[in-house]
Amino acid sequence: MVFDYLKLPHEFPRHYLPETLEFEWGSLSKVFDELATRNLNTPQELEKWLIDEAELDSFIYEQRTIRYINSTRQTDNPEFTRAYRQYTEELEPKIKVAAFGLLRKYASLPFSDRLPSKTYALEDKRRRSALSIFRPANVEIERQDSALSQNYQRTIGAMTVDFRGQERTLQQMSKFYEETDRRVREEAWRLADSRALRDRDALDTMYDEMVKLRNEAARNAGFVNYLEYAFVKKDRFDYTPGDCIRFHQAVEEYMVPLSRELDREREEKLGVEALRPWDLRVDPEGRPPLSPFDDVSGLVAGAAKVVGQVDQQLSGYFERMAGLDLLDLESRKGKAPGGYQEELTEVRFPFIFMNAARRDNDVRTLLHESGHSFHTFLMREASLPFFNGGANVPLEFAEVASMTMEIISGEHYEGTFYTREDARRSNREEAVDNVKLFTWVATIDAFQHWVYTHPGHSHEERTKAWVDTSNRFCGLESYEGLEESREYRWLRQLHIFEVPLYYIEYGIALTGALGLWSHYKRDRKEVVQAYKSALSLGASMPLPDLFRAAGLEWDFGPKAISGIAHDLRAAIRECGE
Ligand SMILES: [Zn+2]
Repeated sequence: MVFDYLKLPHEFPRHYLPETLEFEWGSLSKVFDELATRNLNTPQELEKWLIDEAELDSFIYEQRTIRYINSTRQTDNPEFTRAYRQYTEELEPKIKVAAFGLLRKYASLPFSDRLPSKTYALEDKRRRSALSIFRPANVEIERQDSALSQNYQRTIGAMTVDFRGQERTLQQMSKFYEETDRRVREEAWRLADSRALRDRDALDTMYDEMVKLRNEAARNAGFVNYLEYAFVKKDRFDYTPGDCIRFHQAVEEYMVPLSRELDREREEKLGVEALRPWDLRVDPEGRPPLSPFDDVSGLVAGAAKVVGQVDQQLSGYFERMAGLDLLDLESRKGKAPGGYQEELTEVRFPFIFMNAARRDNDVRTLLHESGHSFHTFLMREASLPFFNGGANVPLEFAEVASMTMEIISGEHYEGTFYTREDARRSNREEAVDNVKLFTWVATIDAFQHWVYTHPGHSHEERTKAWVDTSNRFCGLESYEGLEESREYRWLRQLHIFEVPLYYIEYGIALTGALGLWSHYKRDRKEVVQAYKSALSLGASMPLPDLFRAAGLEWDFGPKAISGIAHDLRAAIRECGE
């Protein structure tokens, strides 16, 4: 199944690149050379040059995305795997070096900070920041880091167990944690856990290598550690490591007590002496899992109806996506796990990928990824000259787009996916999951702060740091007799390996999304209007301004977190039980 992107309407014709351009270095280098050697004498010429460069970026990112989509839709096709790896191993390092050359050229121009349109101011800041930390030696370090990430993916993907006469991945095992029979849950959990622990030492050592590479890249760029470096590299202009620490403290103060209160209720309802790790996903009332649809067409029809109740314009986007075959939702053999939305940057359409298994979670996932796709559509409509390559949208705000859609759509499940009672149950589960998500974000972020500010630490010290961090934020589940499992839970959190320090974004975005959801209960129209206009700004404004455009305060400290804990507690009580 090849992803046929050629049949998509090409509504944004090229102005600069040749009509046919091969995605290989011989062709790309010619374009880079032209941009590198072009004479630029006025701000107007520079603006044209920037737009041409953005067209090249869009081409590259789209070609990369097509390879990525193919490789995840068919992991068992070696041709697709090879093509994507060829991009990351061979093309990408060359592209990074050539793009750096353009960045240097840009910064050397005396009029680069005097461009005609003020929308370039933020882009100018991003460019100067990227230039200030770029070191050619780090291209090779990043290539090695990315090869280790792919190695991590393969190691995790190869973890399978035989359960009930079938070979299953650890992700496929997770559905058994919803079984009402406690013995089945425990057996499934122990089996999956012992399989993961078999690769414990290999993963622990792989992480040492990654941390070493990352700290080395940071030192090359003149930083004391990778934490400081990552803030610059990720364009985190508007908050500091200290703000993240205040977020951790606020979660500890306001969310952890709520999380433990909810666990105590769960313990009582299940009638168990102590919650164990396999007791956390089952319905505490002993009901079977929610079943919102029968097949993928039911999921799509239901999601279209729900989005239609939020807003007509947005449901128009959703239907366009479905009509253009930009949804790959059903689970199939050979398909990669997980879900994502990717932007096809030249045609400016979104693509959604997931593995539907007829569960409540699938509805949430599709609406989450749809929120990302509405961002893509709204930026497309706004036709921003420059910032359309979705890569530039701050992730802290990109996740506001998706999480808001995921959460507010729950107000419309009754009559589409669920009866009134089941809709309340689904919304209660979502609210509880969000309490738990805050505590998990704080755990993962605080742990990584420790890792990168303690260079040269031993495995024992790292294990202790993990246990201490998780004790700060965890619920009431008991790992008695499972100490080793508790010590190595972090090995299965892919972000720690693959996208270091990328996690606090979820906490910041969740704060924003829940803020919008609280307003939505009072004034739906106003919230949808603000949501749409903020999304259509793309990456053209600083993060705090994007929050304000959505009608939110830029705050993820104690005041915001305590308010949200209050709202979540109230919503959970309101949904009964
Ligand atoms: Zn997302």
